[in-house]
Amino acid sequence: MSGSGSSGTQNSAAQNNSSLAGGRSYLAIPGPSVVPDAVLNAMHRASPNIYAGALIDMTDTLIPDLKRVARTKAHVAIYIANGHGAWEAAFANTLAPGDRVLALATGRFGHGWAEMAHNMGAEVQMLDFGRTSPIDPSRVEEALRADKDHNIKAVLATHVDTSTSALSDMAAIRAAIDAAGHPALLMADCIASLACDRFEMDAWGVDVVVTGSQKGLMMPPGLGFVFFNDKAAEVRRKLDRVSPYWDWTLRAQPDQFYQYFFGTAPTHHLYGLRAALDMIHDEGIEAVWARHDRLARAIWAACEVWAEGGALRINMSDPSHRSRAVTALSLPAPGASELRAWLEQNAGITLGVGLGMAEPDDPAWHGFFRIGHMGHVNAQMVLGVLGSIEAGMAALDIPRGQGAIGAAAQVIAKG
Ligand SMILES: *Cc1c(COP(=O)(O)O)cnc(C)c1O
Repeated sequence: MSGSGSSGTQNSAAQNNSSLAGGRSYLAIPGPSVVPDAVLNAMHRASPNIYAGALIDMTDTLIPDLKRVARTKAHVAIYIANGHGAWEAAFANTLAPGDRVLALATGRFGHGWAEMAHNMGAEVQMLDFGRTSPIDPSRVEEALRADKDHNIKAVLATHVDTSTSALSDMAAIRAAIDAAGHPALLMADCIASLACDRFEMDAWGVDVVVTGSQKGLMMPPGLGFVFFNDKAAEVRRKLDRVSPYWDWTLRAQPDQFYQYFFGTAPTHHLYGLRAALDMIHDEGIEAVWARHDRLARAIWAACEVWAEGGALRINMSDPSHRSRAVTALSLPAPGASELRAWLEQNAGITLGVGLGMAEPDDPAWHGFFRIGHMGHVNAQMVLGVLGSIEAGMAALDIPRGQGAIGAAAQVIAKG
């Protein structure tokens, strides 16, 4: 978005005394997500001692609680990085130049991870499932059966592609790999999905999981996480060379505190993460998933009613293929961009832009938007977003089915 666009927002709000955008703003995009006050308050402190004492003891407590979120007994390495850093960390520990990967794309993020593998010297075999379908495990099995010499070292799967909101069945992908009798690692991008959509690393047979702090974990961006099992650790041990910063070995089993982070610890982020993990485990991970499910179904219920008007479309038509963290939508261009601008100027809500659906300089780009509903989200926030979208569609005369908010309220009320 251009700088002039945002200053225009301020001007029109100042000139137009009827703007209702004052008060607390709400960033309803698929990351960064809303940071709870408990997390912000935990971070608001003087710099702690990094040599001894409370910070060191507290950091040790993060490790088992992170593993409980990913449902694993395996290992975890923490990086001072965003999601792209976690992506790179996973490859740095598993791929040698020239190794082949099978990349499964269901949107922009699947392609992005594959491009990173290519740029790190891997040979990428791409299976592209388009922008409106999940990964088809039977095509994965077929591709692996065709790889008789087992040249493919890793299968890359995005659990939830944030651009399309496609949710893929990771257990079924594991079953496909096993059915083909193939030894490749299964590597999952759970940056958007962790602590939103059900995910079970060990039960589903995922070898490597990458995620970040700023989505379901309700933190500011800045921490990347790579979970890896013993099979993946063995792959790492056989590599000739791993760049020292990204090497997960000591990070996952440090002898000294600084080795967790290969340098200065992300002090305040660690306190924030402690508070976020407390919130997740106090609620219970099953309850966290159930809350995301119910809130997502309320959003879909409203969107399905609006769609009856013929303008709005839910990108993923089959509910069983939809993420509970983000919903990708379209409105004929420039309707989506106009709706986003209306909500920002008049309701204090920022919705996500469309990603990977059209190029930013293509007029079609203004026909896509996304609602983020990951992490620290409750019923009043979802109903507020939906009611504001209803108001925005009314203001912009966008054709829509009637009764959307009532349909969402019914899901909130009855489940
Ligand atoms: C957000 C996201 C990323 C990228 O994370 P950054 O922190 O922006 O680097 C990668 N994959 C998925 C699925 C995401 O949702």
